[in-house]
Amino acid sequence: MIVDIKKNLADIQEKIVKASGAGNHPPAKLVAVSKGQPEWKIQAAIEAGQKVFGENRVQEAAAKWPDLKKAHPTLELHLIGPLQTNKLKAALDLFDVIETLDRPKLARRMAVEIKKTGKTPKLFIQVNTGEEPQKAGVRPADLAGFFEECQNLGLEISGLMAIPPMGEEPALHFALLKKLGHRLGLAEFSMGMSGDFETAAGLGATSVRVGTAIFGPRAPAP
Ligand SMILES: *Cc1c(COP(=O)(O)O)cnc(C)c1O
Repeated sequence: MIVDIKKNLADIQEKIVKASGAGNHPPAKLVAVSKGQPEWKIQAAIEAGQKVFGENRVQEAAAKWPDLKKAHPTLELHLIGPLQTNKLKAALDLFDVIETLDRPKLARRMAVEIKKTGKTPKLFIQVNTGEEPQKAGVRPADLAGFFEECQNLGLEISGLMAIPPMGEEPALHFALLKKLGHRLGLAEFSMGMSGDFETAAGLGATSVRVGTAIFGPRAPAP
């Protein structure tokens, strides 16, 4: 096997335990990002005991995960990519955690759909900490207002998620995300990817999203 997924998972878990511990935090949860990866690699991760996975496209996830989830009912699937309102129903069917709540229209439709379906996904607000025009996420200045709007809709928000800008020091963005969350009384932070998950864990990430460091290079996004 070219990629030893079991070993990669074990190595990364060990690094997480060390980095979280060094920051006096409980170990961050490892979300294995399986977008663009073939099914055999996902199977290998499941066989190695990995239970939490992340996908960034609803359509791709809907093709890969329903059977896997049926076969392994304790798996937990996170949506970590943008959610279009026309995919909301499919997303609620599939995902246990939606990390990318990022706009009022989506929040309103989410509240309606949740009431209708009785689904109770765990919800994170995505924050555009770098205020990048092309990137999804609520701007830091708009976060408190959006959070209040979510609460008024009856949406229970568990935490915040961010993807720092390329080429900037991620630690600054992780620290900002935590500061923003703490102001709102939130205690969960999804931050850190293959290149910076140890930094994120050390700064108190409660979950890190790691793809290529586990699975190797992925197919380019369609
Ligand atoms: C793809 C992706 C990841 C994982 O990226 P790697 O660099 O492969 O670890 C993490 N978070 C989000 C939002 C992603 O889209």
